[in-house]
Amino acid sequence: MEFGGCRNYKGVVGADDLLRPQLLIGGALVMLLGVFLYVTAFPLVFAWSFPFIVGGGIMALISLFVPESEGPVQPPEGSKFCVFCSTPMPVSAERCTHCNGLQPKE
Ligand SMILES: [Zn+2]
Repeated sequence: MEFGGCRNYKGVVGADDLLRPQLLIGGALVMLLGVFLYVTAFPLVFAWSFPFIVGGGIMALISLFVPESEGPVQPPEGSKFCVFCSTPMPVSAERCTHCNGLQPKE
């Protein structure tokens, strides 16, 4: 595991790599906001600095462990999803094997 940049930081290579560390960046921004509130030290917002810092830290931390989103789910080769129950079924089938729903003609 490398942390030298967005790309490949979980050992995954793909076109949407740049979108992946959203939670990491979001957590970092929340932490920055918390630090900002801490530094400015206005009495009312000061109390919020630690929750922001801790929450941002948690966001950044769990971003390293949550599974990657893989975009829209694609049906297996030669299959399509039932329009009613989303069960994968053969493209040629007229009715779903799971819910028996009549598939619309394409
Ligand atoms: Zn179905």
